[in-house]
Amino acid sequence: MSTATTTEPAVHSSGSKAYDQLIGLLRENETLKSVANAMSWDQETMMPPGGADLRADQLTLLSGMIHERNTDPRLGDLLGEAESDAAIASDPIAQANLREARRDFDHATKLPKSLVEEMARCSAQGMNAWKAARAANDFPKFLPWLEKTFELNRRKAECLGVPEGGELYDALMDIYEPGMTAKRTEAIFAPLREFTVPLVQKVAEAKASGKAPSVDPAVRPLPIEKQIEFATRVTGAMGFDYTCGRMDASTHPFCQGVGPGDCRITNRYRENGWCDALSSATHEAGHGMYEQGLPKAERFGQPMAESVSLGIHESQSRMWENQVGRSHAFWKWALPVAREIFGDKALEGIEVDSIFKAANLVEPNFIRVESDEVTYNLHIMLRFELERAMIKGDLACKDLPGVWNERIKSDLGLTVTEDRIGCLQDIHWSMGAVGYFATYTFGNLYSAQFWEAMGKEIPARDQQIESGDFSAILKWVRTNIHQHGRRYSAGELCERATGKPLSSEPLMRYLEAKVQAVYGV
Ligand code: ZN
Repeated sequence: MSTATTTEPAVHSSGSKAYDQLIGLLRENETLKSVANAMSWDQETMMPPGGADLRADQLTLLSGMIHERNTDPRLGDLLGEAESDAAIASDPIAQANLREARRDFDHATKLPKSLVEEMARCSAQGMNAWKAARAANDFPKFLPWLEKTFELNRRKAECLGVPEGGELYDALMDIYEPGMTAKRTEAIFAPLREFTVPLVQKVAEAKASGKAPSVDPAVRPLPIEKQIEFATRVTGAMGFDYTCGRMDASTHPFCQGVGPGDCRITNRYRENGWCDALSSATHEAGHGMYEQGLPKAERFGQPMAESVSLGIHESQSRMWENQVGRSHAFWKWALPVAREIFGDKALEGIEVDSIFKAANLVEPNFIRVESDEVTYNLHIMLRFELERAMIKGDLACKDLPGVWNERIKSDLGLTVTEDRIGCLQDIHWSMGAVGYFATYTFGNLYSAQFWEAMGKEIPARDQQIESGDFSAILKWVRTNIHQHGRRYSAGELCERATGKPLSSEPLMRYLEAKVQAVYGV
């Protein structure tokens, strides 16, 4: 039996010794990270509560080791040598790997150790403060941590560097959605908001005049064991490879790519939430299929085998969850499958039309994560604008609740009476993640744009979905998105796949058609 040593280059020699050594090092670093990934997955799924302290020590130690390796001067030396090596100048894959490895190395080394440590401390303590403040519905208790978080993020942005003509916030966005800027985001979001607010109003009017479909089919109580079977059958049919992955239960559903051949997704179940369980399963399986479609077997550790941005990652989950899993065509196939698993009697009275509508209701909600396809983006745009203003200094953290509540009233018609269902609801800021939220809506935008472009190339797509054949869809995303890893930026990838830069129009067309089909308005 051969014991592969990870110092060997992952691919055949490139002709550049420095490049081959660099690739070997990156592979080792990623192998170490995969250990942390497996431990994190275990922490959320299998670990007994008593193991929490040891696990925290294990993960802290591992992340320190990984950071040390990622900032190792030897890595910088090899990068420099490989960048000037003529032997690989004409190899586009090697060039993409070098460009992205340089980006990662610069990012990792630009932040002074003292700042990294201060941020880690602030995030650990801030998360505890946030949990307590949210439970007690006490914003002032969290305020000092919020102020500190934004102060540290401003310093972080200064260290990372502001792109020419840009603003501090751009440097933070760039961590999660490389190349994206606040200005460009604003230009894409503005028409989407102008479109969404009146659409929500139109739905409210339809409901007021008694035209709302019933939610009952989506909340029919069904045994959890059978829900697991159904979710597994659907995600397997879509293309999540269970020989290289598994699905378990956790409090919050997530996807954790461990490494080549091993991708973990989780789901959660409630007796009267079979449609919720289905949508989170298809969502996480979408993330999982992206992980499984990246060329990890050949290129583990190389940027070419990694996801390009959070927005693109989210587009892959949203597409399977929404464009596929909430479509009329999908339910034509899935309802008979559900009958087979749950039994005819358990689903009595549910028809394709009624379950399709029940799974697509538009219902303004205080809580982002419980929101539907239409109102969800309003929650994101609010967060994007407020955090950008807080980084700029245009909005003081102490004024957050008032501005938040005003906006929820004007956008969704809801009156926030408690901050725990208002500005205290999300974990992101307490963790120190500023510049992250917009990527959720980028995911919705990319998925709609990919879906539209794909539809032109697969004219029989609906009929294929109706018969439970998802292979052409999977092939399209594998070819146009997954296989490229970080070779192109998210923006370039979008243009190559769809012929156009990212725009809000495909999503608006998609949502308009959806609302028309469900509410007849
Ligand atoms: Zn997601």
